[in-house]
Amino acid sequence: MENQDATTQTNLQTVRDKIKSKKNLEIDINFSYRFIDSAKKEINDIEKFLWNNCQHDWIHLDDGDYYSKIKYHCSICNLYKNGYMYN
Ligand SMILES: [Zn+2]
Repeated sequence: MENQDATTQTNLQTVRDKIKSKKNLEIDINFSYRFIDSAKKEINDIEKFLWNNCQHDWIHLDDGDYYSKIKYHCSICNLYKNGYMYN
């Protein structure tokens, strides 16, 4: 009986540890999502700036997609020739 109590106690501790680990991982995931959102926003701002400030050198974009609406990209900043994407 004493042995069984010890096992129950160990299990209880393991359960508590797992709950704590899960919570920490969830916090990490939320932190990562917020980081991704802010990095995406920063990339958008940079692309907007590049669209307006780079002396674009448009070259034909050969991405193998014949039906693609985007036919050019800039050899300097690498943006696609589609202002709609950056405004
Ligand atoms: Zn450019």
